[in-house]
Amino acid sequence: MNLRNLNSPNADVRMKGFLTRTTVDDAWAWIGSTLPAGSRNSIEVISLKDAAGRILAEDIISEVNVPGFNRSMMDGYALRAEETYGATSYNALAFNIIGTSLPGQPFTGIVTLGSAVRIMTGAPMPDGATAVLPVEGTEIQNDMMLAMSEVSIGKHVGVIGEDVAVGARILTAGRTLRPQDLGVLSSIGRGTIPVIKRPLVRILITGNELLPAGTSPEGFQIADANGPMLYSLVNRDGGIADMPPLIHDNRDQLQAAMLEPADVILVSGGSSVGEEDHAPQILAQHGTLAIHGIAMRPGSPAGMGILNGAFVFLLPGNPVSCLCAYDFFAGRVIRALGGRNENWPYRRITATLTRRIVSTVGRVDYARVKLDGTAAEPIAVSGASVLSSTTQADGFMIIPANSEGFAANSTVDVFCYD
Ligand code: AMP
Ligand code: MG
Repeated sequence: MNLRNLNSPNADVRMKGFLTRTTVDDAWAWIGSTLPAGSRNSIEVISLKDAAGRILAEDIISEVNVPGFNRSMMDGYALRAEETYGATSYNALAFNIIGTSLPGQPFTGIVTLGSAVRIMTGAPMPDGATAVLPVEGTEIQNDMMLAMSEVSIGKHVGVIGEDVAVGARILTAGRTLRPQDLGVLSSIGRGTIPVIKRPLVRILITGNELLPAGTSPEGFQIADANGPMLYSLVNRDGGIADMPPLIHDNRDQLQAAMLEPADVILVSGGSSVGEEDHAPQILAQHGTLAIHGIAMRPGSPAGMGILNGAFVFLLPGNPVSCLCAYDFFAGRVIRALGGRNENWPYRRITATLTRRIVSTVGRVDYARVKLDGTAAEPIAVSGASVLSSTTQADGFMIIPANSEGFAANSTVDVFCYD
């Protein structure tokens, strides 16, 4: 990787333009080498009921059998299976009813020859009984139970450890917990569970021209589009989003906000080389501006580095660039810190291009496409400021740096937004 010394005292690139741009592959390599494997996932223990969607931090081995006793799977009669052999509605066989077994309230005697115990679903099997004859196959006459069908040994009996056996590894570390996982964990006696901590992600939205989300644009001011978008992307990727009010293009204000502790800091706007672009300077001065300027479109004025142990991503203010730079770089880091899969969180399909799409060699392109089945039509508007191009699109393609684009009818990979 060939990184310039962005932290030298003479590194003020403002109004000089980017001299060189880092490739997307080198930026990914920097992320990979800066995320130290293993040590990056801090663990917290949380209540089981809050754990769905969280990432399990340890393998779970059961210390108990579930169920811990043999139990009936039906409402009916617990008896000796072989005594029902030959029973039909024309050949009813009579049993003495010697008691009842209810869930949590077992029958304490022994089922002997010619006898049966009334039993409910989930109730413990009495000693001596080998099967349950469902109530549908019986009739009552003169306090006797008449068996009118037969059952084989073990029929309708749930055996000890049938659900979970002692010593079984029921879940492995790294799993995204499902609601039913919580049910199984509870059934083995867990009330709390160790999960990977969600990284704290501070979202700093900068720009003097911005109005808070929820305000109608007026005069020369525009409403913040990036805040709500980034906030939901961070949530999607398992981060805890913290978004203070809009920040002016004021170096001191931005610096104070960037120095507040977090795991990841996203700065929207002011990432480039203009007069008002303070974030790269602050990062270079107080931390490490590892990468500034990336060979991609949109998103080329993005940057990244480390400040106070936090990953910092400088995201261009143009909303499409912001989305693209977040998805290429920041989202990966947030997912990795939270123990999730770093790779693209989008479903990938194979599609056929309806039109030619051109790209400059040396640069990665993020091209929005509309899908009609597996036909992918490139969206003509490609400006980085036209965010609605991403709402009209069904997905995007990545055109690699070494490619001049694709001819019409080429087979391409499309990542679907939904
Ligand atoms: P900047 O990266 O700050 O130079 O901004 C580039 C362009 O994106 C300018 O036209 C800004 O007005 C616009 N922009 C910056 N931040 C936002 C935002 N949060 N929402 C919508 N547009 C923005
Ligand atoms: Mg700005």
